[in-house]
Amino acid sequence: MTIISKDIPKAIRLLTDENVVAIPTETVYGLAGNIYSSKAIKSIFSTKNRPFYNPLIVHIHSITALEDIVTHVPEKAARLASAFWPGSMTLVLPKHNAIPDLITAGKNTVAVRIPNHPLTLDLLSKLPFPLAAPSANPFGSISPTTPKHVEHYFKNEIKQILDGGSCTKGIESTIIGFENEKPVIYRLGALSLEAIEAVVGKVEIKNKKESNPNAPGMLGRHYAPCTKTILSHSILKDLDTYQDNSVGLISFTQTFKHTSINTQINLSAKGNMEEAAANLYNALHTLDHLKLDVIIAENLPNYGLGQSINDRLQRATFTK
Ligand code: AMP
Ligand code: MG
Repeated sequence: MTIISKDIPKAIRLLTDENVVAIPTETVYGLAGNIYSSKAIKSIFSTKNRPFYNPLIVHIHSITALEDIVTHVPEKAARLASAFWPGSMTLVLPKHNAIPDLITAGKNTVAVRIPNHPLTLDLLSKLPFPLAAPSANPFGSISPTTPKHVEHYFKNEIKQILDGGSCTKGIESTIIGFENEKPVIYRLGALSLEAIEAVVGKVEIKNKKESNPNAPGMLGRHYAPCTKTILSHSILKDLDTYQDNSVGLISFTQTFKHTSINTQINLSAKGNMEEAAANLYNALHTLDHLKLDVIIAENLPNYGLGQSINDRLQRATFTK
């Protein structure tokens, strides 16, 4: 029997009994549990093999639920929340005492967002508690954007994957913290820098690749396939370099011809960044399953979601 279903009452039963359930969001699938159940939260960490220093994102249904999660909302955070929630933006704010340390890795801040997916909003509105939900993948691997991706990773570990179809945004949320009331981007993501700056003005980005980062979405190697992956600024040159290998190619708009190409995936034939983001992880999953020698991914123009996609590709290919 498949564990993939649209059965919300079943998800409510499982979550109320302190189990974890995979849930759809517009960004990627999450592995969700009751934020107040240490059993559920511990099982999120153990299922993902996620280190406890990596805090989780709390998912709520409405802005009014925010008062149980955080103690202070800077003016610019309030503006961002009203502009983009429900949506692909996570805010890091001072945490309420009731939020367990396990969720926040002992930090005095908590990451929170209202996801924009009808099924999960329906689920959250029917639950008496918020859900902690990191991405539903083993730590460091490619995030899931379809129920099948989650099933591939966890079919023996979890009892239900709530089927919300393919994620429309396809990369993780943009994470924004506040330092002296000023917004700082900790992780680039599905909401573009330009969209954020249109609401709050110039924003600093602090998402350098580090080995022991503030926000582990900043880890050097993360979001990575098992297959060796190259981020390419010159596709034809790199295809020549790997001419004796079997290559999986991820290109933005253009189709390339070369004897080394085994399989080629265009992220967006019409050059649309949103479409490219939505297709990115599925392309990485597909090519990774083919067990090729190398995946070559094209560096995108570095603006809008191109910047977020390039960030993910750099981390997928980071080797030091
Ligand atoms: P995931 O849900 O798997 O995309 O991971 C959640 C991301 O949110 C991780 O990169 C965390 O480091 C980040 N995060 C969660 N809580 C905090 C926090 N209090 N401060 C900074 N980053 C956070
Ligand atoms: Mg993740």
